[in-house]
Amino acid sequence: MARHGGRGWYGRVIAAAMGVTAVAAATSVWTAQAGQTGGGAAAPRASARAAAPEGRPVSVTIAHASDRGAHAVNITIDDGPDPVWTPQVLRVLRDNGVKATFCMVGTQAEAHPELVRQVVAAGHRLCDHTVSHDTTMDTKSPAYQARQIVDAERQITKASGGVRPMYYRAPGGAFTPYSRKLAASHGMRPLGWNVDSKDFERPGSDAIIATVERELPGGPTILFHDAGGDRSQTVTALRALLPRLKQQGYAFGFPVR
Ligand SMILES: [Zn+2]
Repeated sequence: MARHGGRGWYGRVIAAAMGVTAVAAATSVWTAQAGQTGGGAAAPRASARAAAPEGRPVSVTIAHASDRGAHAVNITIDDGPDPVWTPQVLRVLRDNGVKATFCMVGTQAEAHPELVRQVVAAGHRLCDHTVSHDTTMDTKSPAYQARQIVDAERQITKASGGVRPMYYRAPGGAFTPYSRKLAASHGMRPLGWNVDSKDFERPGSDAIIATVERELPGGPTILFHDAGGDRSQTVTALRALLPRLKQQGYAFGFPVR
């Protein structure tokens, strides 16, 4: 879909957002950042995470791990909310007792505040996916990047009735050191992914399931979409996949902060 900027964004995705090794460096980076952000929280990451209220600075590194440990998955749902598809995704998640992380586009959140509230009420977490989903934002000025991130944070928080996004995911993985630092200073952990379900390309629900099961050993954070076109394959795939993952003993968690 054009909004995703064609094939070019995959390169950035792989370079910037995918991976399994970045989290290991989180503790030292957090400690290094704590002085700069004035948080005074040079504590080990585990206790900082447990104690950190929303809005406190978090690590600037791109998170991939799950807060439920090694045999867990993080379901992440991008680009909504959408009046047709988000309710269907919410139903599948509810039917399976699974909590997910919704990376919302600011303008979508503003247009559909009732959906943002439903997501929050169901116990899911919010993630800032910028105002307008510009996958080339890493080539733009810091001022532009800041507007995309901070304005979306405001739009999502207003739509939710005051619940702030806990993560920031750059569209197409177009993170920059600046945008990661800015998001972290607003309490939003930069969020990557390990498994691109490729649901956006509509390869058929069986292919979506096969991609996830093949790539899941590489890391827990799985990318799906609830907007940007017909997402019926995504809904069908989730309905089959969630019980199957549960049978395989996976826990369902949130990305680490
Ligand atoms: Zn997206």
